[in-house]
Amino acid sequence: MRRTLFTDDHDLFRTAFRTFVDKEIVPHHDTWEREGIVPRDLFLAAGANGFLCMAAPEAYGGGGVDDFRYNLIIAEEIQRAGVAGSGLGITLHNDICLPYFTDLTTDEQKARWLPGMCRGELITAVAMTEPTMGSDLASMRTTAIRDGDTYRVNGSKTFITNGINADLVITAVKTDPSERHKGMSLLVIERGMAGFERGRNLDKVGLHAQDTAELFFTDVAVPATNLLGEEGRGFHHLVDNLPQERLSIAMSAVAAARQALEWTLAYAKEREAFGQPIGSFQHNRFTLAEMRTEIDIATVFVDRCVEALDDGELTAEEAAEAKWWCTELQKRVVDACVQLHGGYGYMLEYPIARAWLDARIQTIYGGTTEIMKEIIGRSMGV
Ligand SMILES: Cc1cc2nc3c(=O)[nH]c(=O)nc-3n(C[C@H](O)[C@H](O)[C@H](O)COP(=O)(O)OP(=O)(O)OC[C@H]3O[C@@H](n4cnc5c(N)ncnc54)[C@H](O)[C@@H]3O)c2cc1C
Repeated sequence: MRRTLFTDDHDLFRTAFRTFVDKEIVPHHDTWEREGIVPRDLFLAAGANGFLCMAAPEAYGGGGVDDFRYNLIIAEEIQRAGVAGSGLGITLHNDICLPYFTDLTTDEQKARWLPGMCRGELITAVAMTEPTMGSDLASMRTTAIRDGDTYRVNGSKTFITNGINADLVITAVKTDPSERHKGMSLLVIERGMAGFERGRNLDKVGLHAQDTAELFFTDVAVPATNLLGEEGRGFHHLVDNLPQERLSIAMSAVAAARQALEWTLAYAKEREAFGQPIGSFQHNRFTLAEMRTEIDIATVFVDRCVEALDDGELTAEEAAEAKWWCTELQKRVVDACVQLHGGYGYMLEYPIARAWLDARIQTIYGGTTEIMKEIIGRSMGV
């Protein structure tokens, strides 16, 4: 079905980003997967080519184009190339972290941080999850107690994407530990601040080239000028930004599912059993047909969500619908695709095997499927 949301400018951007991925990421992906991290140079290269912070104002070095369709293209091209682990850091920087820096910052903060973020010199992360809590954000224990012109931060975070590479960490803290939601604030904690230590790069099931780390804060003196938004409104700021984060994950889920189907269709036409291509057995033909149908339907919904986001209309419930359904679809599709590959589907030299490993987290991070259903269900008054 013809997609109606892209213009010629988007098509040009897609061609340019595809070339960038094929040249700057694909040849190195296996090495980065083994090393468990992408080099900081990747961010510099992406920044130099205009693939970072497209939505940041031009005055600060950004693209000046607040249009999430460009982010959708980046998500699709990363999945097309089968380099999810190497690409996630860039999409986290652009799709998830940037809005905090454009929407919640003072002019002084914008001038301090945005130019480096656009150039790829300052890599970002967002740290909410702690060892004892993930879904129940309001129960977080990391504290930031005001002491004159600084906040004293104590606590720890875990599972933080870009955790090793990050220079600026948007950190959810309790400025009033006696409160739940109302006690939360957001602080930018910077590389090099005394008392800010990183733990190990965590050993994950998939997305190996993505650094995911624990962060520890011991009496870190964070200047009050690093507060994002308003003190005590951290939870609201997170809630305002989470729909875009969830849509970003849904976008990558649909693109990953489509790519898995592409690989599998080619395999099913070529691989023979009992004298015929395995795709021509009716069961397998139906499986392929069902996958294509669901992916096409998901594409239409996600495209519409991107338009709604750009129009400022995407609701938390709609983003939750996109997130849970598309990531569960991705999981179902890649699993069926492994099955269609037979034993080869279990071999890591085949992209479908890696896609299967990379997919598993999608229904968990950014809010689990169960939490998404809670958000949707509560909005229905039940
Ligand atoms: C690779 C990776 C990258 C990540 N990146 C980041 C990051 O950059 N920043 C960050 O802050 N976090 C990040 N996370 C953390 C992620 O967002 C959390 O793991 C996730 O939100 C779930 O939290 P949890 O692990 O504490 O699970 P829990 O909250 O302990 O949940 C455990 C199970 O209980 C279920 N559950 C919990 N509450 C309910 C309920 N009310 N109703 C029904 N079921 C419920 C959950 O759905 C889940 O199945 C990342 C995690 C991973 C693995």
